[in-house]
Amino acid sequence: HAKRQGCGSLLIHTCQMEEAMRRRTQIEQALRRAVSAGEIEPFFQPIVDLRTGEPIGFECLARWTDPDFGSVPPSVFIPIAEERGLIELLTQLLLEKACIAARDWPRRMFLSFNLSPTQLVDPETTRLVLSIIVATRFDPRRLEIEITETGVMSDPACAKQIVSQFRDVGIHISLDDFGTGQSSLGRLRDFHFDKLKIDRSFVSVVLEDRPSEHIVKAILALCDGLDIDVIAEGIESREQAEKLVELGCQGGQGYYFGTPADAASTVALLQRLSRRSDLKDDAREATL
Ligand code: C2E
Ligand code: MG
Ligand code: MG
Ligand code: MG
Repeated sequence: HAKRQGCGSLLIHTCQMEEAMRRRTQIEQALRRAVSAGEIEPFFQPIVDLRTGEPIGFECLARWTDPDFGSVPPSVFIPIAEERGLIELLTQLLLEKACIAARDWPRRMFLSFNLSPTQLVDPETTRLVLSIIVATRFDPRRLEIEITETGVMSDPACAKQIVSQFRDVGIHISLDDFGTGQSSLGRLRDFHFDKLKIDRSFVSVVLEDRPSEHIVKAILALCDGLDIDVIAEGIESREQAEKLVELGCQGGQGYYFGTPADAASTVALLQRLSRRSDLKDDAREATL
């Protein structure tokens, strides 16, 4: 009897797996169509100077709303794109749109763009990124590429070559989600990252969890010595922001400072900010 029950649950399990696979394939097909129709949009989340709260740049985050599936988060469709060979086309579409959008920002604002781990084992990635910079006439010194430790891990030599080709043309390199993957200090030494982003899992508990606070402190000390800029990810409250400033962190990102917004809203935000600083300048001049 028990055996039969076991078989039954195995059958249910198999059914669920088949159902999940079918769904993945449906999403893949919808994604393929959306990519070729250019329907994936870049959204932009501010990265701020923690001392002023003002944006210094924006991270591009992919957004997709399908007519049938509704809004599909990148945590779902990016892995499918990687697995089903769509990531290159998706990157091309998105980076192109992002560079065009970022040309309307003040020149000092950088654009930060995520590359998938699978793209760091593909020598074609350099050509793809460089051709888009050239085609959109985007200043490479304003571009930052975010990579993760997972991406560097599987073929460090290839990743290193891609990174050094980016650096040769002035692109900055940022290590994303630091502290969650296979962190290796040797990697920090060998890759010469310009920037490091402390993962949200440390930031979200920095006020109440002493070990996390100590880890954040240690990362800041390490990066200070290595001359790497630090961004704390996932800041959701003023208290967290203040704590990070107190610990000596200079850069931040999170819902407290701004959620990801589309290209038009981002330009509108930047225009409001520049009008506000014009007003400040006028006030300063008036008092002089
Ligand atoms: P990520 O690169 O670490 O991006 C940060 C994620 O944290 C984003 O999620 C962002 O919306 C979210 N976030 C920002 N501030 C807060 C906060 O205060 N609280 C919380 N709870 N979350 C916050 P999103 O947009 O869902 O993206 C998830 C991941 O998908 C990204 O993590 C990145 O790994 C990947 N991804 C997104 N867009 C792209 C893309 O264009 N290409 C590639 N290859 N990966 C992408
Ligand atoms: Mg990122
Ligand atoms: Mg991140
Ligand atoms: Mg993260």
